[in-house]
Amino acid sequence: MLAQKTYLHCGRLLDVRAGKLLPERTLVVENGRVQAVQTGYTAAGPADKVIDLKSRTVMPGLIDCHVHLEGETSKDNFLREFTLNPADVAFGSLAHAQKTLLAGFTTVRDLGGSGVNVSLRNAINRGQVVGPRIFTAGKAISGTGGHMDPTNGYRQDLMGVPGPADGVANSPEQARQAVREQYKRGSDLIKIASTGGVLSVAKDGSSAQMSEEEIRAVVTTARDLGLVVACHAHGAEGMKRAIRAGVTSIEHGTLMDDETMKLMKKYGTWYVPTITAGKSVADSAKIPNYYPPLVTPKALAIGPKLQGTFGRAYKAGVKIAFGTDASVYRHGVNALEFRYMVEAGMPALEALRSATLSAAELLGQTENLGSLEPGKLADVVAVDGDPLQDIDAMQRVRFVMKQGTVYRQE
Ligand SMILES: [Zn+2]
Repeated sequence: MLAQKTYLHCGRLLDVRAGKLLPERTLVVENGRVQAVQTGYTAAGPADKVIDLKSRTVMPGLIDCHVHLEGETSKDNFLREFTLNPADVAFGSLAHAQKTLLAGFTTVRDLGGSGVNVSLRNAINRGQVVGPRIFTAGKAISGTGGHMDPTNGYRQDLMGVPGPADGVANSPEQARQAVREQYKRGSDLIKIASTGGVLSVAKDGSSAQMSEEEIRAVVTTARDLGLVVACHAHGAEGMKRAIRAGVTSIEHGTLMDDETMKLMKKYGTWYVPTITAGKSVADSAKIPNYYPPLVTPKALAIGPKLQGTFGRAYKAGVKIAFGTDASVYRHGVNALEFRYMVEAGMPALEALRSATLSAAELLGQTENLGSLEPGKLADVVAVDGDPLQDIDAMQRVRFVMKQGTVYRQE
């Protein structure tokens, strides 16, 4: 017996590669992949299924290259570190994953958590729970007291001495071990922090926190294992070290100077901006006692700068992949980032490409993801309206298919 096919009748189909909205197309899906894109509304056979999207704009599933599905912003986040068991984190992450998928994000990079994110990826892949396809960094890596030290701000007798297995490395040798630990636990890529960060309970938010030798050890070890490296950085010195050492992407990049942009172009380094996170931390920091005292001034100083940096980097020609840092703001409104990108001067089509074609390239998944062409996975999103004219249409997702299975249909 022949496999059942699904015919999606698309009022408008966004061809992200050509940069065109194609009227009246039929997307034929079989075995979770796109089998054909046909002109007009093709009639289906008696055993096949037809989905009417004639009033919608249809596009490839969206990709957010920077989320954290384990947690979500709240006033008591710091306390949760002492009260939640891994199982509590796991159950909490299910809702985050589901919201993300239903918002049209069929694939994400999870850039760090406790390691529950690896189990979440596996449960989704087994079809046991609903969520986006996940490429996870497991537990992120930095030095002692650095942005990824899991015991920052703790009472001293609770701090212990976290090491490479906990994502804390203080030499090239420990950096190699930390990478191999993540590989062993099933991480798909490596995440490091080469500078301070906003939400860690530590004083500095932007100065360099890893040596170039340590970053180089991370990158070469990861490369041997077939993993790429994503690097959190706010300050320029930490970015430059990471770019020269060969990381694949700079995350946030808040205080990026012209020299850093030139270096990124020279090395082909991706920029994942996370403007939504910048705006969100600045807003939350205005609520009294929302963050621990060390965090508030960093959030106010760094958060509002991201959108401007993004605008300059885009104009300078730095390669950009869409990423939002969901968890720093609430999950499921990831598409707000599109509005902020367009506000900063990026054309709507380019913003949509950053979350499809470009993100697929950053993930090393151009064979499977990023466009609706024969042979690719059938990750399909439909929205109300024309996002090329009104980018806020991206917040009106009405249909979501992941690998041929429908998760949302209105
Ligand atoms: Zn992040």
